[in-house]
Amino acid sequence: MSTISDAELTVLRGCKSFLVDLDGTIYLDSKLLPGALDFLLQLERLDIPHLFLTNNSSKSWTDYQHRLAGLGITATREQILTSGDATIDHVLTHTTHRSAFLMGTEALAKDFRVAGVDLDAEDPDCVVVGFDTTMDYDKLERACTLLFAGKPYFATHPDRTCITQRGLVPDIAAIIAAIEAVTRREPKIIGKPYHEMVVAALHRLGSDAHSTAIVGDQLDTDMEMAMNSDLRSVLLMSGETGPEKLAEAPPDRRPDIVLPGIGALAKALEQL
Ligand SMILES: [Mg+2]
Repeated sequence: MSTISDAELTVLRGCKSFLVDLDGTIYLDSKLLPGALDFLLQLERLDIPHLFLTNNSSKSWTDYQHRLAGLGITATREQILTSGDATIDHVLTHTTHRSAFLMGTEALAKDFRVAGVDLDAEDPDCVVVGFDTTMDYDKLERACTLLFAGKPYFATHPDRTCITQRGLVPDIAAIIAAIEAVTRREPKIIGKPYHEMVVAALHRLGSDAHSTAIVGDQLDTDMEMAMNSDLRSVLLMSGETGPEKLAEAPPDRRPDIVLPGIGALAKALEQL
């Protein structure tokens, strides 16, 4: 697992674009993981486009741009896709909805407005729930009232917990569950591991699933998404997944490539 096998190298040769997870893949907490910059340099050398993916919709793409810049990584608007961005892409590309009641942070609200989705609490086309760290009773009441009235319902991602410096904190699943307890409505979910996140990512990159790889540290989001959407899968053991967890994965759910970290992937790319 520490070096790449010939079979894995063959898979890697077929990867013409990369979807790249952030936490546990490029950085861990506030620290850049070893080899992350080398990996990006190799992609540049090989002229392989990449897109950073994150499920956290409490922040805007600009927050991630700043965070990456602080670690010495330049990322353009086109190279960052949050689950909020993917939800906006889904609503504008695959539905006729042009206004939403948004349960989300101001950062997410700004991304919706800039993209041309009108934010309307009175008579919106749909209800969208994000990781709303500013939620209150009034917003919960309004979302439930609109859902009782039959409005279409979307959620940016499914995560139960979010890792912070304070430990694990409640993520969007707590909000989805609160709404479901009241209305019995379940949202259409867009973020990892759902196919819609991949559709938005491939739309952004202009690439096809079969020649695109996802690089990530989680079996149940990153790798699950690759398998749901026929992407190539590169699991890095630098974050959430340990050897025991990987050993439990059924043979047909094993990632195409398993490496210790992003530095090993950079070294493998050097061989192409
Ligand atoms: Mg991760």
